[in-house]
Amino acid sequence: MPVIPDYTRLAGLEPFVIDENSLFVNVGERTNVTGSKAFARMIINEQYDEALSVARQQVENGAQVIDINMDEGMLDAVKAMTHFLNLIASEPDIARVPIMIDSSKWSVIEAGLKCVQGKSIVNSISMKEGEAEFLRQAKLCRRYGAAVIVMAFDEKGQADTYARKIEICKRAYDLLVGTGFPPEDIIFDPNIFAIATGIEEHNNYAVDFIEATRWIKQNLPHAKISGGVSNVSFSFRGNDPAREAIHTVFLYHAIKAGMTMGIVNAGMMGVYVDLAPELKERVEDVVLNRITDPDNLLAPTERLIEIAGSLVAGGKKEAATLEWRGTPDAPTSVEKRLSHAMVHGITEFIVEDTEEARAAVEASGGRPIHVIEGPLMAGMNVVGDLFGQGKMFLPQVVKSARVMKQAVAHLIPYIEAEKAADEARTGEKSKAKGKMVIATVKGDVHDIGKNIVSVVLQCNNFEVVNMGVMVPAAEILAMAKAENADIIGLSGLITPSLEEMTHIAKEMQRDPYFKDMKMPLLIGGATTSRAHTAVKIAPYYDGPIVYVPDASRSVSVMQNLLTPETRGAYLAEIQADYEKARTQHANKKGVPLLTLADARKNKMALSFAGEFAPVKPKFIGRRVFKNIDLSLIAKYIDWAPFFQTWDLAGAYPAILSDHVVGEAATKVFAEAQVMLKKIIDGRWLSANGVIALMPANTVNDDDIEIYTDETRSQVAFTYYGMRQQSVKPVIDGVPRPNQCLADFIAPKTPVTPTEVGIQRLNTLDSDFRRNDEQVGVADYIGLFAVTAGLGIGKIEKRFIDAHDDYSGIMFKSLADRLAEAFAEYMHERIRTDFWGYAANEKLGVDALIKEQYQGIRPAPGYPACPDHTVKPDMFNLLQCDEISMTLTESFAMQPAAAVSGFYFAHKEAKYFSVDKIGTDQLEDMAKRRNLSKEYLERWLAPNL
Ligand code: SAH
Repeated sequence: MPVIPDYTRLAGLEPFVIDENSLFVNVGERTNVTGSKAFARMIINEQYDEALSVARQQVENGAQVIDINMDEGMLDAVKAMTHFLNLIASEPDIARVPIMIDSSKWSVIEAGLKCVQGKSIVNSISMKEGEAEFLRQAKLCRRYGAAVIVMAFDEKGQADTYARKIEICKRAYDLLVGTGFPPEDIIFDPNIFAIATGIEEHNNYAVDFIEATRWIKQNLPHAKISGGVSNVSFSFRGNDPAREAIHTVFLYHAIKAGMTMGIVNAGMMGVYVDLAPELKERVEDVVLNRITDPDNLLAPTERLIEIAGSLVAGGKKEAATLEWRGTPDAPTSVEKRLSHAMVHGITEFIVEDTEEARAAVEASGGRPIHVIEGPLMAGMNVVGDLFGQGKMFLPQVVKSARVMKQAVAHLIPYIEAEKAADEARTGEKSKAKGKMVIATVKGDVHDIGKNIVSVVLQCNNFEVVNMGVMVPAAEILAMAKAENADIIGLSGLITPSLEEMTHIAKEMQRDPYFKDMKMPLLIGGATTSRAHTAVKIAPYYDGPIVYVPDASRSVSVMQNLLTPETRGAYLAEIQADYEKARTQHANKKGVPLLTLADARKNKMALSFAGEFAPVKPKFIGRRVFKNIDLSLIAKYIDWAPFFQTWDLAGAYPAILSDHVVGEAATKVFAEAQVMLKKIIDGRWLSANGVIALMPANTVNDDDIEIYTDETRSQVAFTYYGMRQQSVKPVIDGVPRPNQCLADFIAPKTPVTPTEVGIQRLNTLDSDFRRNDEQVGVADYIGLFAVTAGLGIGKIEKRFIDAHDDYSGIMFKSLADRLAEAFAEYMHERIRTDFWGYAANEKLGVDALIKEQYQGIRPAPGYPACPDHTVKPDMFNLLQCDEISMTLTESFAMQPAAAVSGFYFAHKEAKYFSVDKIGTDQLEDMAKRRNLSKEYLERWLAPNL
């Protein structure tokens, strides 16, 4: 692969060629915003001179190619890439090395290709969006004369095992070479993932990479192999000597196997032969996933961790592991120990150390509260600062809070005793720095986010009265008065809770106690938003109402509201911002709506004949599943939302080696595995489910009649569907349909084809194949309700009693994961067995999570069926009480870790979003359902 940047040629230098005879090529990694915080800061602040000097340093330090990546949420990556590459082009000492244009977005790559001079390398393209897109991109790269890095990534996901890596690389190679792509311009990246993470499946990742490299070298002539080397050692983040040793060993073996080039930090590579023998052996055991000493019971990772803490550059040993406590002769001061325990979340010695601090304070005439106000708060402040600076993440903070709570729990009896004495003396009640009463509103049961907020606030020295879930307005307000609270916080997950929050705001306005002192009201939870708060809640109360987007913001909001000096300015800012939101809302034209009648004319009009003919389920009626094996369900867990719960952003599994949150994510993930095992082995939770497969047909365009049996003579209940009403774009002369779930079920009575339907048939768009023989077809629908949350309360109480919020939150978030996984598992059995319309389906868990199967399982409250009020009918038919599932007055499911919904089997059934509907639909539905318009209006408010 001749790589000839312009400046090389101009300077009359030898062209830089990477071929079979080349030595390993170093690609500089520091000009990458995702890998280097410093570089990201420079680019965000447009300090391009400094950024250029980073590139220059890379070249001076021996980088033979520089990797440039601008994929950062805060950046316009296309703009940043273009600007930076243009700058580089006029810097001869940088432009003499080739550029690797690195982005996960094709648009950014293309922007880069347009700027670089000479031959560049595109990092990367893959088959993740299918062969056609892959070849299209490859062709463009070739047209620009660039070499390509092909990531081992296909439609099913990123390759982690040897077999998948070589399968994908072979397929990509054959495709590319088949279209005439020069094989010497293909560079494979078979994915380097983090090893030694504590998760068994990760142990072989380095071996898989090395072996895949060997295979590619031997079987795919002229192809090159590259990879991002720093990933491999991610679990040792913060321990550079250990990382350096891992990189050294890893590269030694990978290069021997045929690795051509690697994205590396040249400063973090050592010389293989110089490694100390003991270190080399232990690192080699980890990298090669082998056990050299069969008598040693420790796994390779643990053996490395054993010595990793004491490594210094070059691999020598230092002091013992409990270093932070000092030695018996020279102990670290108790303040420092408390602070260390807090920052690192270590509870092991906390009671002992707290007692030591208390005794010392008492001996010097102080009071027990001083231990909290002094060393404990100092420790928490460090945590708060690190969190604020993005150096600590939510899971670590919640762990720090656990240390704090256990320390405080030890002090409480002393403080209470003293306070009682004080109050008896002065007659005054003491008051906290700031106090919040927080509750999940009436009808709603979700509280993970609310509990996280409580913990985060508590560890920032606010007092929190956490009232739990399903709390009626009157009780919240009464508690706020009784507790002399400064602020009320409301949380809710489901859409009906939005209305309840407005109700509470109105109640506060009615009560002079709140209205006169203008007690702030904080709003948070999954369905809440700034716009909703500004438009639908704030106008009803004179006091401040503040939307809190996530737990990490709660501290600054509380501080701003409770600090007299900042409160005014802060409120003015919020007020102005919400005013803006209201104006935006008022001015928003909104998407124009069709009338319901016109929307119906433009329905999907699917075929129910031929390959689309409904399949009759194996049985009609209900089936109950009790105490389903949790270990079976656990395999189906989608881990991505787990990280969202912990405010960690990123896709799984890439998040585990993310440059910013990778360390925190890996840790909380490993701990989740430990707890999951306890949940399963200890039977902490029971999972029950019920499904029903029923005859069904569509009536009145939008409604689905669900029949009690195959005679279809008796309606069990009718599902009233909501239909999209927005004006749809016209593609190739045919409008996209206005969808409704009822479109996926065959109509009960003959329908005459509409103009549009026929037109669509003629366009041969598979979405709309219409067949006029479809009428009167017997169709079916499924219903399900599953929970993995039975027994949650008992175990949760155990954690609360132990002042261990971290475990409590972890436990609940795992129960939620298990419930979703249960739904996934049950859906698979429906398709392959009970209904059997996809009997031969064979999909891995990744494909299931990506919904690559036929059919959908829409859940009430979600975009395709936002109406929660259907749940009583569903629960009735399913007889959910038999599996101990119930509904609250807002139709939230109990236990909270639960999923319910419908099954639709039609090949063309896809999720969609109903969005805004018109009053005509509201009125029509009220009439169809024989309900008052006002009643429905309240429940459908989010869509009106
Ligand atoms: N795998 C994810 C699923 C999240 S969505 C997880 O483990 O959390 C949860 C459920 O919502 C889906 O299983 C499906 O039942 C439902 N759903 C998703 N999108 C929907 C839509 N647009 N309309 C209706 N229901 C939807």
